[in-house]
Amino acid sequence: MNKKRKINKKNLFLLGACFLAVWGIMGIYFLNHKTIDTQLKEIGYGKEEITKLKGLLTSENLKLLTQYQYHSKVLSISEEKSFQQEKLEEYLKYLFQYPSATSYDIVFLVNQGKEGVPYNQDISTILNHEDFKLENLDRYFKYYQQHELEGSKIVYDVNHDLDEEPKTEEKDPNPVEPNQPEEKNEDIKALFLGKKYMVSENMDRYIQYYQEHKDLSIHEIITRVNSNLDKKAYEDIQKADASKGNLILVNKYYYLDKQYVPSNLVNVESTYGRGQLNQEAYQAFIEMYNDASVLGLYPYIQSPYRSYNYQNTLYNNYVKKDGKKEADTYSARPGFSEHQTGLAMDLGTSKNHSIGAFENSEEFKWISQNAYRYGFILRYPEGKEYITGYQYEPWHYRYVGKEVAQYIYDNQITYEEYYEYFIK
Ligand SMILES: [Zn+2]
Repeated sequence: MNKKRKINKKNLFLLGACFLAVWGIMGIYFLNHKTIDTQLKEIGYGKEEITKLKGLLTSENLKLLTQYQYHSKVLSISEEKSFQQEKLEEYLKYLFQYPSATSYDIVFLVNQGKEGVPYNQDISTILNHEDFKLENLDRYFKYYQQHELEGSKIVYDVNHDLDEEPKTEEKDPNPVEPNQPEEKNEDIKALFLGKKYMVSENMDRYIQYYQEHKDLSIHEIITRVNSNLDKKAYEDIQKADASKGNLILVNKYYYLDKQYVPSNLVNVESTYGRGQLNQEAYQAFIEMYNDASVLGLYPYIQSPYRSYNYQNTLYNNYVKKDGKKEADTYSARPGFSEHQTGLAMDLGTSKNHSIGAFENSEEFKWISQNAYRYGFILRYPEGKEYITGYQYEPWHYRYVGKEVAQYIYDNQITYEEYYEYFIK
């Protein structure tokens, strides 16, 4: 009798445990699988819009839409004049690949069967140029691929038939004697004129660099000279131009004084991180944080503004640990750190403040694709180490404002390149 009761108790306990487990699993399931309607509502869609979207998209696409924040664009795509319902899949594919593309450009490219054309600012300039001619479309793209000139120049050259292969010139009966250095420079100069991101006042430096690096493409030489790679880091230096405000450039060629303290620093609230940040950058971060947190993501400002003295201590410690040469690849010398501007921040997550762990977080996945929408750029990207002078830093973001950030994101250039051509 006693024994039986014991068993019953045990069975009862097991039954209860099973019951709880099943409910637990179901609970977790439902938490992770909110209905599409709920998710769209959370993103900010109204009832009418949701009905409209459901009529427009398959459930697969609806899911994509809740993953990414591309919703408003889908509506504007559907409102484009030449929108075709049966091409919706392709519009979306293009949108998800090039989130900054305008709805007009997306619909136009797909309708023309040009969904393979990689999107950037120049392509958009071409499509929206007042002298754009539809019959020249293929030639614009081909010419752009070959020469990477600015969009408006592409339209002009093609419209004036300047894209055609030059006819081989007839032999000059009285050839100019070779080895005349002046003439040679003129020839080299001609290689650079009209090329994308060419800065006229850098011409002598392009020519010099060209003569020393004949293996490099013209495009690459422009990139390198514009980024000061023909100068010596930490030696050929000048004061950073603080009058550029949020668009100031600080790197191994532009430094800030020991006395420089940004005037508009604010304290970062503990929800968002620690330290101090430029006020405008901070507001932008909060905006980004709010959108991220809707998706369950919580970035954390681990290291924002750093004073000259703090950077000095930091750098000297790194030098002690790894030696000067190694330290220079990952830490700025005092006065040369972008953190002294108050516009840069190293990110972690609220769960793990460590910036080293940031790259493997969901927060990083989202921020690397969306930060530009709030005015931030990934300042030291992978593959651009030789331009920025720093190792890839997935955690380091810099505030430059929405318009500039969008351009840099679309065209995948560094801030060094952007500054030289557009700001300096
Ligand atoms: Zn940093």
